[in-house]
Amino acid sequence: MLVMWDRFSQPPGPAAPEPPLAMPDLRAHRTGNTGVPYVWRFEAKGEGPHVAVVALMHGNEPCGAVALDRLLRRGLRPARGTWTLAFANTDAAAGGRLFGPAGTPARYLDRDMNRLWAGVRAEVPARGPPPVYPQGREQARVAAIAPWILTADLLLDLHSMQVPSPALTLCGRSPRARALAVALADPGWVVADDGHADGMRLIDHPRFSAPGSSAAAILMECGQHSAPAAGVQAWRGLIRFLAQSETLDAATARTLLAEANAPASPAKPTVVDVTHVIRAETDEFAFVKQFQGLERIAAAGTLLALDGKRAVHTPYDNCVLVMPTRTPRRGQTTVRLGRIV
Ligand SMILES: [Zn+2]
Repeated sequence: MLVMWDRFSQPPGPAAPEPPLAMPDLRAHRTGNTGVPYVWRFEAKGEGPHVAVVALMHGNEPCGAVALDRLLRRGLRPARGTWTLAFANTDAAAGGRLFGPAGTPARYLDRDMNRLWAGVRAEVPARGPPPVYPQGREQARVAAIAPWILTADLLLDLHSMQVPSPALTLCGRSPRARALAVALADPGWVVADDGHADGMRLIDHPRFSAPGSSAAAILMECGQHSAPAAGVQAWRGLIRFLAQSETLDAATARTLLAEANAPASPAKPTVVDVTHVIRAETDEFAFVKQFQGLERIAAAGTLLALDGKRAVHTPYDNCVLVMPTRTPRRGQTTVRLGRIV
């Protein structure tokens, strides 16, 4: 008999619960030094790439804020090149009107900020009517931070997940981003995917994805939103990213990684090529069991979910499940399926 997963039940907690990862107090970072609140830029004397790091694209994902807060509080600076450090959706992180009482971090206030990057430009028009933002506060914030980050040669966007999946790096379809994610090798999973039909992610912006561009952007999913391990992963990922760009002094990077008990050279990562995006077509979509993500299902034809009268099966052997949702909603992505390459 199939055991149907109840979408209203809570996932089982860990055996020995640790305190959840908390949002750091970001007030010290509010002024920024760019004229845009919560956006910082540091330029070294020596030449090097422009490297950007984005935290809080989703306001309820504290891990990136934990990592950038630590970088800023420790006073770390680029040895060469430029760093731009941006806390993106700080208004949602401070609590939104859509999700629970004020003060509870929200994923977004008006629109998902990571679906709003199509057509966004780094250049601010010198003249013309004042801009309007029909899509709301996230669209206005995207316009404010775009000039600072859409000029980056390398960009790291720090996120976390709803499910307790192992950490992974999304690299879109850009070969440059994939090579970067594989070179970092931490997280140990690299997922190549097409992004979202309902709006462009930052990493898929033409600045980073166009064939003729030399820039690259990756999105790191560091763990489950409130898991302390997500904060650790975000910090390690950030240090490795800055070291890989050669903007962080190599000796400093080694010291920081040793402090974090991170291996100097992680094992070769597993790369997953996403082949199918499964969307819920009904309100009845339910997985046959509670998946956490990155399970490898041995046999083709294994039942994964029922969606009204439709059965969703694995299309091939050794199919990998990427980020299954705990809250399926009609019209939205519920899981991505991929092959190990
Ligand atoms: Zn996110």
